[in-house]
Amino acid sequence: MSSTVPTRADLAALPSYVPGRTVPGAIKLASNEVPGGPLPSVREAISQAATQVNRYPDMGAWALVDRLATELGLPADRVAVGGGSVMLCQQLVQAMCGPGDDVLFAWRSFEAYPILIQIANAHAVTVPLDATHTHDLDAMAAAVTPRTRLLFVCNPNNPTGTAVRRDALTRFLDAVPPEVLVVLDEAYREFVTDDEVPDGLALAEERPNVAVLRTFSKAYGLAGLRVGYAVAPPEVTTALRKVYVPFSVNAVAQAAAIASLDAKDELLARCRDIVSERTRVRDALLAAGYVVPETQANFVWLPLGDRATEFAEHALASKVVVRPFAGDGVRVTIGTPEENDVFLDAARSFQQRE
Ligand SMILES: *Cc1c(COP(=O)(O)O)cnc(C)c1O
Repeated sequence: MSSTVPTRADLAALPSYVPGRTVPGAIKLASNEVPGGPLPSVREAISQAATQVNRYPDMGAWALVDRLATELGLPADRVAVGGGSVMLCQQLVQAMCGPGDDVLFAWRSFEAYPILIQIANAHAVTVPLDATHTHDLDAMAAAVTPRTRLLFVCNPNNPTGTAVRRDALTRFLDAVPPEVLVVLDEAYREFVTDDEVPDGLALAEERPNVAVLRTFSKAYGLAGLRVGYAVAPPEVTTALRKVYVPFSVNAVAQAAAIASLDAKDELLARCRDIVSERTRVRDALLAAGYVVPETQANFVWLPLGDRATEFAEHALASKVVVRPFAGDGVRVTIGTPEENDVFLDAARSFQQRE
């Protein structure tokens, strides 16, 4: 039976978000997840919260908001939570843009941006990454027009892992008009080891047009529970709460996020292990002849161009799932040392095959 109700015509042309594939029995290095499961203390908080799921969650997630505000040394009105930071990206576009307003971002970057911008009836404007696969901030500043309402800077950038440094970012923020909101998407901040990559929270504190997005999905290992947060000026967090889909951060996620903050030291120690594996994996790939941009995230980028899909198929034949972007490159998440070894063997045999 075909429906008699017309859906939005423009959705037909909207690309779908492509999640990293899960292949039973294969090693998944496709979604930038951390390999470790929840700590016992976090599992305990999850099972406690599970006993109450006949009740609606706290709509404002105030216990979590207050806890984050204390952690960050900020007033609670500067913090907003959302169902994953991807939902906060969508809320930001909804909160800032009317129909046809421009949202500017680099490309290639997080593939959710163009999708949720179109869904919100805003207009996506992209600026290519530079030759080092890094945000070209001077070109982005030059691309701002009176129609620009919002700008995403993904730092470190997904999928290239590259990060912008303090001087370039400061120059950029000085150049962007004060009525344009600059959103620093810092989903991978906990993996940054380069001191020259600024902490967006410090910038948000001193600039009235900067917002920062962070998530519990990556370093904190709660991707399956969907919770992230924004730090922004109070007027922006108020608007984010207005466009919030009621109850979209569930009670189990709220409890798990608080328990993860309690276990912060242990979780950040895990991140340091990932970071040392990142160095080992990148060095091995360089030694095997690959081009690998310097990465500050929990993944590496292989700019393989036309060979991206072929590379991913080759890895899959070795039971490793990576994330290809056809015609452009392949993103590979850092896993456990054993998982990384299997991937590196596949990467070496791909080179030798040619
Ligand atoms: C993973 C990711 C997010 C958010 O993930 P959530 O699970 O929605 O919190 C946001 N931005 C970037 C760039 C990401 O890679």
